Amino acid sequence: MTGTDRSQQLFDRANRVVPGGVNSPVRAFRAVGGTPRFMTGARGPYLTDADGNEYVDLVCSWGPMILGHAHPAVVEAVRDAAGRGTSYGAPTPGEVELAEEIVARTPVDQVRLVNSGTEATMSAIRLARGFTGRAKVVKFAGCYHGHVDSLLAAAGSGVATFGLPDTPGVTGATTADTIVLPYNDVAAVELAFAEHGHEIACVITEAVPCNMGVVPPMPDFNALLKRLCERGGALLVIDEVLTGFRASAAGWYGIEGVPGDLVTFGKVMGGGLPAAAFGGRADVMAQLAPSGPVYQAGTLSGNPLATAAGLATLRHATDEVYAAIDRSAAAVSSAASEALAKEGVAHRLQHAGNLFSIFFTDAVVGDFAAAQRQDAKAYAAFFHAMLDHGVYLPPSAYEVWFLSAAHDDAALERITDALPHAARAAAQATAG
Ligand code: PLP
Repeated sequence: MTGTDRSQQLFDRANRVVPGGVNSPVRAFRAVGGTPRFMTGARGPYLTDADGNEYVDLVCSWGPMILGHAHPAVVEAVRDAAGRGTSYGAPTPGEVELAEEIVARTPVDQVRLVNSGTEATMSAIRLARGFTGRAKVVKFAGCYHGHVDSLLAAAGSGVATFGLPDTPGVTGATTADTIVLPYNDVAAVELAFAEHGHEIACVITEAVPCNMGVVPPMPDFNALLKRLCERGGALLVIDEVLTGFRASAAGWYGIEGVPGDLVTFGKVMGGGLPAAAFGGRADVMAQLAPSGPVYQAGTLSGNPLATAAGLATLRHATDEVYAAIDRSAAAVSSAASEALAKEGVAHRLQHAGNLFSIFFTDAVVGDFAAAQRQDAKAYAAFFHAMLDHGVYLPPSAYEVWFLSAAHDDAALERITDALPHAARAAAQATAG
């Protein structure tokens, strides 16, 4: 390591002109302490920071980079698209091709392209409300769907609690129609339908919750949500922004096969550029402007650079790519678990396909409340030791560790070499 002086200088400058010095909160390292690394480049499985330090990247831009960084086909597609103009404000062939690619892989009949996962879930909720003529939205505590006002609500006590806003700036009125339930709690969902069924527009759920760490759905949980929605005249919105085209070529749908009435996508489908989408049943999507009355729009939606990056990424995401990610996810997760076990650090490895995370607790984590009982101090020590040994983990204990097909044997070896140091640091933090 060559130090962190330049990152520190950049962070000091950033703090003067950007709130908290970052453009998305978790990048700020507040959960783990220390100075965020300012990155200047990335290639394959590696990131390089402003001081010239190289890291094996286990964040992968929070999911999109399944082919690794600066994949030649993606770079070439973006370069080619940029040479023809960066935005036209008119329809383009690339949008049609990307929509066709998504429709071919997933249960949706039609998609609308947007710029971020937040926009996708916000628009899906609006459409569900417009389609059903109902107001209430059921969400699960610990599921993250972007910073949509009405979804920034966590559970209060009781079975079916009306959400209280999680952040100043979101009013009680905005979240009053949000019902927050504990994840994996079938009885709570049944009760919400029993009490408010005629008012519920939709249930929104992450296909697999990954934003409180990985909490796999209990067998049949998603299918049960689908049945309850059907019976109650509500729509099921499955959020595949994170899992889409990462868990498999068809996302989590490719593994579990439960179709949402509406499905949201993002991350991988933009290949590292801002692109996301929401799609669903043809009769529901027909309600969207200009076909129908529910308004939704975007100056840069279906941007030619983003669609080019997304198309190149999806077209190169072959069966071999998914097999490689599955293999390295299994290797890294078991190596991490073994290193922690060797040092006697209480932890729990949770998997859903190639998605995994490690909770610093020995209890089963089935919902958000259980996830919050982990030892965040132990994770912070583990994180910093990995960073010092050249491995960039998510700077928060509540995240998936992301891999790509570019994580080859050399990159995996660097991770396994770093793990014993990090496990020892976590053990010391727990003892302290
Ligand atoms: N939905 C899920 C499941 C996510 O993981 C995220 C982001 O992490 C979002 C929605 C929001 O996406 P974006 O950050 O692109 O707005």
